[in-house]
Amino acid sequence: MQLKIHEFDLPLAHTFTISRESITVQKTLIVELEEDGYRGYGEATTNNYYGFTFENMAAAIERVRGDLESHTLEDPVALWQQLHPKLKDNPFAQCALDQAAHDLWGKKLGQPVYRLWGLEAKNLPPTDYTIGIDEIDVMVAKMQEFPDWPIYKIKLGTAHDLDIVRALRKHTTAIFRVDANCGWSAEETIRNSHELKKLNVEFIEQPLPADQNDAMEQVYRDSALPVSSDESCIVESDVHRCVNRFHGINIKLMKCGGLTPARRMIDRARALGMKVMVGCMTESSVGIAAIGQLLPLLDYVDMDGALLIRNDPATGVCIEYGQVHLPQSPGTGAALR
Ligand code: MG
Repeated sequence: MQLKIHEFDLPLAHTFTISRESITVQKTLIVELEEDGYRGYGEATTNNYYGFTFENMAAAIERVRGDLESHTLEDPVALWQQLHPKLKDNPFAQCALDQAAHDLWGKKLGQPVYRLWGLEAKNLPPTDYTIGIDEIDVMVAKMQEFPDWPIYKIKLGTAHDLDIVRALRKHTTAIFRVDANCGWSAEETIRNSHELKKLNVEFIEQPLPADQNDAMEQVYRDSALPVSSDESCIVESDVHRCVNRFHGINIKLMKCGGLTPARRMIDRARALGMKVMVGCMTESSVGIAAIGQLLPLLDYVDMDGALLIRNDPATGVCIEYGQVHLPQSPGTGAALR
C-alpha cells in the first residue's frame, strides 16, 4: 500500500460550544491508503480534550509507514492488530488508518463494508442534529436552520440549562437528547432529570466528569432518565466499568482506535445489557461514512458532524432530515472532492 496524509481546516458553520470549550475551525487529518489504483480514506480530527494534534497524529502514522508500505491489504482487522503495539498511545491516528483500511478493503472487493460484515442497510436509526451552546435565541435559530429533524441533541452545561430546553421545546415536538459533557454534579443531574423527562428528553449523555464512578452509581439509581457514557467510555476496557453506572455507551471511532475495536465494544456492551450509540466529532464526510457502516448495529447515532462544517472536502453518506442513506458504493463510500 502507498500512504498519503492530507491536512484540512474545516471552518464550522457556527462557533461550536460545549461545556468546556468553543471551536470555530476544526483541523482534521485524512489518511489515504492506495493499492492497485484503489484509494481508501480515513479520518481523525484534532482534539484538545484528548490531546491529539495534527502533528502528533501525523508522527504516529509516520512510525508505521514502513509496515504499511510493505503490506498487501487482505484483512483490516489483522492490520489493526499488527499496528496496535506501535499506535496504542495514539488511538486517533490508528482510527484514521483503520477507517482507510476498511474503505480500501471494500473498494478492492467491490462491496460496501457493512455488507462484507454480513449486515443489511435496513431499520437504521435516524441521526440527531446537534445544537451547540449559545444564547438561547441563537440556539433556537440554530435548530430552526435544520427544521423537522426527528431528534435534536442539545449541548448543556450552562447556568440555565433547563431554560434552554424549555425554550427549544416551544418550537418542536422532536425527541431531545442532552449532553452535559461532564458539566454537572450528581445532585444536579438527578434534579434535572425529572424536569427533562417532562420535556420529552430521551437520555442524558455524560453528565459527570469521567472519573466520578461512585457518583455515577447514584445517578444511575436515581435519575428519572437513562444516562449514557461518552468521556467515561473511551476504549474496550472501559465498557465493563459502565455497568450499573450507565444505561448505554457512546462509542467514538477516534477515542477507541477505529472500526475494529468499535465492533468489539458493541458486542461487549450488548452482552452486558447496555444500549449502544456511536457519536462523531466535527469531522468531514470521510469519518461520517465510516460511522455509517456500523448503523445496522446501533440503537442511537449522532453522525451530523459533516453538516456542522462549511466546506466538506469529501462525499459519503447522504443525510436527509435525520434519515441516513448509506451509499451502495464499495468501501465506506468516502471520496475526496
Ligand atoms: Mg458527548
